[in-house]
Amino acid sequence: MIWRSVAELRQAVAAWHRDGLRVALVPTMGALHEGHLALVRRGFALADRVIASVFVNPTQFGPTEDFSAYPRREAEDSAMLAEVGAHGLYMPTADEMYPAGFSTTITVGGVSEGLCGAARPGHFAGVATVVAKLLLQARPDVALFGQKDYQQLQVIRRMVRDLDLGVQIEGVPTVREADGLAMSSRNAYLTPSERAIAPGLYRTLTAMAGRLSAGAAADEQEAWGREQLQSSGFSAVDYLELRDADSLQRLDRLDRPGRLLVAARLGRARLIDNVAVVTK
Ligand code: AMP
Repeated sequence: MIWRSVAELRQAVAAWHRDGLRVALVPTMGALHEGHLALVRRGFALADRVIASVFVNPTQFGPTEDFSAYPRREAEDSAMLAEVGAHGLYMPTADEMYPAGFSTTITVGGVSEGLCGAARPGHFAGVATVVAKLLLQARPDVALFGQKDYQQLQVIRRMVRDLDLGVQIEGVPTVREADGLAMSSRNAYLTPSERAIAPGLYRTLTAMAGRLSAGAAADEQEAWGREQLQSSGFSAVDYLELRDADSLQRLDRLDRPGRLLVAARLGRARLIDNVAVVTK
């Protein structure tokens, strides 16, 4: 079942709710891969009906970013969702999402600042606004997001609490290729030689996480990791930082559960990844 309008989506979800069924929503930008499907599969464990949305949201892309190049594969996406048993797909048009005169933006403070918030001004306001709209359009009982976009997950958790949106937010662990590279629609931008370099991102994070867990200083480890990435072929490291796992405040040393987050450029792609850093 494909819905293009808010009215059709609302009607379907309302009918399920009248029957006492729990509904899960998996928001995506399409070009689906196993990472997205893991969210759908986890949805089956938490709800009776699982729907996905595919919407390449223009407002979360900066003026020099890849909005027009972003892969769009509607037919494949809808076939993959049908195959895993998703109960519906919401694919609104840009006009349905942002009708003429649209003027509201949701800005989440604190967790939006720094990391991708610094490297991509306006990005999280675009994400928060479209996710709030999707949650209010679909009114699911639970919505699922990947830990792969860890800062985004924390921004959404904060927004849902602050605005009393009344939906359970479920974070799903990152699905990786066999060599450790986090699955991403943007991996399609990598040439074969860049693809061979890309797993270095996760390798560097895991090596650093072990030493940070053992008490190493964050700034020393961050300098080591940057050097490691740049010498292996990444052209720039936007950030590589140890943060508090919940508040995303900077940590100098691990004294509570942490998260190590990175964004680095490789050819045309900007890759992000993160790992948990656990206290011993
Ligand atoms: P996107 O289509 O990239 O906006 O991603 C849609 C959702 O899928 C977001 O909640 C992402 O965090 C999640 N996601 C993307 N890649 C992965 C992955 N490799 N593992 C787990 N979740 C992912």
